[in-house]
Amino acid sequence: MPAHLLDGRGVAAAIRAEVAAGVQRLRARSGIEPALAVILAGDDPGSRVYVRNKSRAAEEVGIRSHVHRLQPGASTADLLALVDSLNRDAAVHGILVQLPLPSAVDPPRVLEAVDPDKDVDGFHPLNAGRLALGRPRFVPCTPAGILELLRRNGIPLEGRRAVVVGRSYIVGKPMAALLTAANATVTVCHTRTVDLAAVAREGDLLVAAAGRAGLITEEHVRPGAVVVDVGIHRIEREEEVRDLFGDDPARIEEVRTRGGTLVGDVHPRRGGAVAGWLTPVPGGVGPLTVAMLLRNTLQAAEAAAVH
Ligand code: NAP
Repeated sequence: MPAHLLDGRGVAAAIRAEVAAGVQRLRARSGIEPALAVILAGDDPGSRVYVRNKSRAAEEVGIRSHVHRLQPGASTADLLALVDSLNRDAAVHGILVQLPLPSAVDPPRVLEAVDPDKDVDGFHPLNAGRLALGRPRFVPCTPAGILELLRRNGIPLEGRRAVVVGRSYIVGKPMAALLTAANATVTVCHTRTVDLAAVAREGDLLVAAAGRAGLITEEHVRPGAVVVDVGIHRIEREEEVRDLFGDDPARIEEVRTRGGTLVGDVHPRRGGAVAGWLTPVPGGVGPLTVAMLLRNTLQAAEAAAVH
C-alpha cells in the first residue's frame, strides 16, 4: 500500500496565514512593520530561486524584504561590513545569509557576525547553543518546520525511536535536538555509520537529510514508519529518472518539457513503498522551511517591539 502523504504545502499555508495575522496585530499595536534582509552573494542559480521565493513569501504576509546582492567575487570582509550595517539598522528585524557563500568567503565568520537577535535562520552559535540546552530562541527553519508538520498531523513522538540521517548544523543536528526535546529517543547517522540500513530501520520516524538522491530504500525503512524526506535534487537525465521513478509518465514528461524533475533522499518507488507516512518531494519539507523563516522574522520583530 502506498504511504499516506504528509502535506507540507497545506501546513505551510496555515503557518503563513498565522504569520500574516500576527503581522497585522503587531502593526496595529506598535506600528512596526517586520522587515527581513536577505544577503545573496555569488551566482548559484538555486540560491537565486530560493531567495526570490523567500522574498515573495515575505511580502505576501506583510513582511518587508530587501535583497542585498553581492558580486561572486565578494570577500569575507565585504560580507562582514554588510552584516554589520544590517545589525545596526533598527528597521531590519531579521537577517538571512543565503548559503552557499562564494568559495573565498568563510561561512562561520559571517554567520557568527549576525546579531543573534536578528538570526532568523538560527545558525548563530548562541541560538544553536540555546537549542542544544533546551532553551530555544530561533530554531533553524527546516527542522522547525518538520516538527510543526509532525505535530499538526498528530504524529506521536514521545517514547518513539527517531533516526536522523545527516548531522549538518542546518538540518541534522537541530532536528535531533528538537526530537530529543519532544521526548523521542534519537539516533543520528552520518557517513561513518556502520550498516546505515539496519540503524535506519529501527526508526518509527526516519528523517532523511543526507543530500543523496534516492539513498533511502526499502532496506532502510521500518514498515509503516513515518518518513520525512528533506533532500532536494534536480535530476535531468531520463535514464536516472527511469531508475528512480520507473516508467512514471508525468515525471518523464516533466524532464522532456521542463528539463528536469525533483527527487528527494528517499527512493520514490523503493523507500516510499514501505513507509506508512511520507513527505512528498516537492511539496513536503520545502514549503515549511519558508513558512518558518517568516514565523522567525515575525518573532524577531515582536521582540524588537518590546525593547
Ligand atoms: P550537508 O551539509 O551536505 O549534510 C549531509 C549530511 O548527511 C552529513 O552529515 C553527511 O555525513 C550525511 N551523509 C551524506 N551521505 C550519507 C550517506 N551515504 N550515509 C549516511 N549519511 C550521509 O547537507 P544539508 O545541508 O544538511 O542538507 C541535506 C539535504 O537536504 C540536501 O539535499 C539539501 O538540499 C536538502 N535541504 C532541503 C531543505 C528544504 O527546505 N527542503 C533545506 C535544507 C536542506 P558526514 O557529516 O559524515 O559528512
